[in-house]
Amino acid sequence: MSSKHPSSRKLTQPTVGRGQVIATYGRQYEIKTQNGTLLTCVMRGKKGGVACGDQVEILPTTPGQGVIEMVLPRSSLLYRSDAFRQKLIAANVTQLIIVVAAVPSFSEELIDRCLIAAENQHIKVFILLNKADLLEQTRAPIATLAFYQSLGYPLLTISACQDIEPLRPYLQGHTSVLAGQSGMGKSTIINALIPDAQRTTMEISTALDSGRHTTTHTRLYHLDSESSIIDSPGLQEFGLHHIDSRELAWGFTEFRPYLGQCRFSNCRHMTEPDCALLRAAQDGKTNARRLAVYHKLMVSAENQKAW
Ligand code: GDP
Ligand code: ZN
Repeated sequence: MSSKHPSSRKLTQPTVGRGQVIATYGRQYEIKTQNGTLLTCVMRGKKGGVACGDQVEILPTTPGQGVIEMVLPRSSLLYRSDAFRQKLIAANVTQLIIVVAAVPSFSEELIDRCLIAAENQHIKVFILLNKADLLEQTRAPIATLAFYQSLGYPLLTISACQDIEPLRPYLQGHTSVLAGQSGMGKSTIINALIPDAQRTTMEISTALDSGRHTTTHTRLYHLDSESSIIDSPGLQEFGLHHIDSRELAWGFTEFRPYLGQCRFSNCRHMTEPDCALLRAAQDGKTNARRLAVYHKLMVSAENQKAW
């Protein structure tokens, strides 16, 4: 077989390089290559999705532009919830930070849902209580948060408006993502960590596609050579539809000692006889509110399947 033709063609083609997706914008992606240059890319064909944080192989095309040839295997993948479908939001995240505040009040169920997403992807997670300066007005969240601490989830209290420094050591060595209801202070935290975040975001939006929905895209910021943080505006909760019933129960860490202890090996812990988890709840060994959240998510997961 003559190798002349294929090898001579190879020489004229630009080489494929590695990079990381640092911003997603519709079907366009901003890639930072290994040597630090920025490329605006599209995905070749209609192959799967691309998420912020993805490591990719790219083929440069014209100056400043390229094509994503392949997405490298991910260590984790987080989805955004949507009534009809799941959208990829962040890949290779190692830590999820649930942001709550002294005021306004926050939803415990939202915390539960974020914890399930983190447990499902084997990501570290902690709760960040912001607006510590307003805590004197309302002591209410402390009891709620103490419950999550008792489950083993760390709690860090800060006042992002006044001092962001206590947060920095927790970000070291991680790719973190912030989740939280609006008004909890996520933007304040990002802007305090990355003072030129707003300007960078605007520049990218302009470069990619001037004028169109410039504020709603996901962006990764490098904090130092080992640490980064992903900002996904409007990220309130993570998609759970891909999680099956077994994985769902596993997402509640305090349920784990009871899993596998029920009469039926495929127990859904809903109404089954001799269910170890239901018995534990009756005996007051597990929190009734958390069991109710589990039941609610099970019902919605099963309805989804039937539909
Ligand atoms: P986001 O919707 O989660 O992005 O929340 P923002 O960052 O926009 O913050 C919502 C409001 O809370 C803004 O008015 C902020 O100025 C305020 N805020 C944020 N952090 C603090 C804080 O540590 N203390 C106080 N008192 N207010 C804060
Ligand atoms: Zn059971």
